[in-house]
Amino acid sequence: MKICRTVQELTSITEQLKQENKTIGLVPTMGALHEGHKSLFVRARKENDIFISSVFVNPIQFNNKEDFEKYPRTEEQDIKILEECACDIAFIPTAEDVYGGQTPETFTFGQLEQVMEGVQRPGHFSGVANIVSRLFIWSKADKAYFGEKDYQQIAIIKDMVRQKSFKIEIVPCPIFRDEDGLATSSRNVRLSAEARKIAPKIHQILLESYRQKDFLSISQIKAFVEDEFKHNKNFVLEYFTIVDDKTLQPVSQREENQGIVGCIAVWLDGVRLIDIQRYW
Ligand code: AMP
Repeated sequence: MKICRTVQELTSITEQLKQENKTIGLVPTMGALHEGHKSLFVRARKENDIFISSVFVNPIQFNNKEDFEKYPRTEEQDIKILEECACDIAFIPTAEDVYGGQTPETFTFGQLEQVMEGVQRPGHFSGVANIVSRLFIWSKADKAYFGEKDYQQIAIIKDMVRQKSFKIEIVPCPIFRDEDGLATSSRNVRLSAEARKIAPKIHQILLESYRQKDFLSISQIKAFVEDEFKHNKNFVLEYFTIVDDKTLQPVSQREENQGIVGCIAVWLDGVRLIDIQRYW
């Protein structure tokens, strides 16, 4: 595996690879790699001649300084995991190299960002679009892989691809969960042992609401989930929003054949966890 630490190094290699007509798959990450990331790596490895992953904790997508500073950084371990996953190129740049004193571009996404993470984390998606658009250009990837845990992020990135007219396929990948149902996340290591035991409750409550979906209206599903969290004092629910799976706009009634997803952000032990549940 080649480790590229500068943009220049990466682009000169990908230029060569494209001249050789190689297909390139990209998995952008912020490191602290876990099984969820690995599930994306497996697909990228299988579906492309060349598999590139980036490890970069992108400062401009954090609207909370403390969250940025506390974000786990485990580079040595990440490099080991990428090697085990048969990664061809690990791109691990510095913020200086990525942004080089330039003012980041401002991206806007209309209604797509006026809900959920877009509301709770102002500027977050513009920061994400800045790094991801740069990674798309530098990697020259044909396909890029993203996890459905960050459901809104996928819709935003698809819109960014449309705005920029990039020729790249966005591949959404299912959520990987620990055996007890908790969606794996780099932030899970910040949970105390006690909180880690409680955390699977998030998925359990969502699953329970899924089982009742044919007997309840959408507002009743929402009320059920909100009520469950209200009664569990370990959690502080930030939002639970039931949305159209493409427009991400909240729905109160389902149209025929409409895809519907519930998205949640909840605090446990000072750690912010997100998850989703597809209903239809
Ligand atoms: P991150 O390093 O948290 O920015 O995540 C990098 C990519 O991995 C994003 O596309 C995430 O959605 C994806 N990802 C993170 N956790 C999981 C998971 N548990 N299952 C599937 N994909 C995930």
